[in-house]
Amino acid sequence: MQPPLTVVISRGRSPHPEKRRFEDELAAELARQTSLPVLVTPPLTDLGANGPVWARLRRTERDLVVLSWLFPRAMHWLLDRHGVAGQRATVGDQEAAEDQGPPQIGAVEPVAAGRPLPDRRIHCGKLDTEPRVSDWVDRVRGIAEIAASLGEPLPAAGQPQQLEEPPRRRRWFPVIDYSRCTNCMECIDFCLFGVYGIDAGEIILVEQPDLCRPGCPACSRVCPENAILFPHHPTPAIAGACGETGGLKVDLSALFGGSPTADRQAAARERESHRPAAEERSATNGPVDPRVSEAARSPGPDTDDWFRQLEEI
Ligand code: SF4
Ligand code: SF4
Repeated sequence: MQPPLTVVISRGRSPHPEKRRFEDELAAELARQTSLPVLVTPPLTDLGANGPVWARLRRTERDLVVLSWLFPRAMHWLLDRHGVAGQRATVGDQEAAEDQGPPQIGAVEPVAAGRPLPDRRIHCGKLDTEPRVSDWVDRVRGIAEIAASLGEPLPAAGQPQQLEEPPRRRRWFPVIDYSRCTNCMECIDFCLFGVYGIDAGEIILVEQPDLCRPGCPACSRVCPENAILFPHHPTPAIAGACGETGGLKVDLSALFGGSPTADRQAAARERESHRPAAEERSATNGPVDPRVSEAARSPGPDTDDWFRQLEEI
């Protein structure tokens, strides 16, 4: 008998003892009080796509509750990028508000509108929005009871399971929110480091995440749909909070002269056709290790100046 849902707790990067204590206590109480499988993972943003933790998460088939210190929108699309896809659902009121995307007035349909998703729900929650373990347990129990009423009853109680994986460096890369992205290709035009690519269906994707320049959130400011997130950026609007980046945004069309979306997409296809085959660059759809030399990845001094000026804007 399968449980109605699995709970995942993605630890924070901070080794702060209070955060660790909170994560451990929450995992133990959830396993004890909800009788659900509880998986505790290292920070999911820092794990390789081909590692055992992501592989384990991809094997989950039923609903998921994923609790972390990241904004729910960023976590949802990080999961999606790693093949852990489902209908976006909420944990609590705050996340319900975050589900409201930007107004789409006469706009191009977002990529997600044309993509079928598995018929399961993925509920993400941000741990620092509710400081009491008991409230998180109540929320998860409520979700589990609804899920159980639609399927099998809750199984017997268990213990949290720690999923281990050798720690990697702190990674830095963009995550695309496909419920907003309109595939306009501004980002692939803009990024000088080859982070973006297009898939077989000519949809933008973060193809080489580890080529992203650490600390640089520049493309999030040129995306016209606020669809590019950097989960660990200190500015909430860039890290995945609800709302717009507002005054932070840079209109590239105004700066350099615009070109229609179709032209941008055609230009991206043309550029991609001169790049090595995708399978040579990546064995998976997920974030992959860099395959180019350090020298090739290092921006030159002119590029540094250019990014600094953009940040000042
Ligand atoms: S700039 Fe934004 S909307 Fe355009 S393709 Fe990139 S992520 Fe999507
Ligand atoms: S933040 Fe900078 S380096 Fe990273 S993907 Fe965006 S433009 Fe490219």
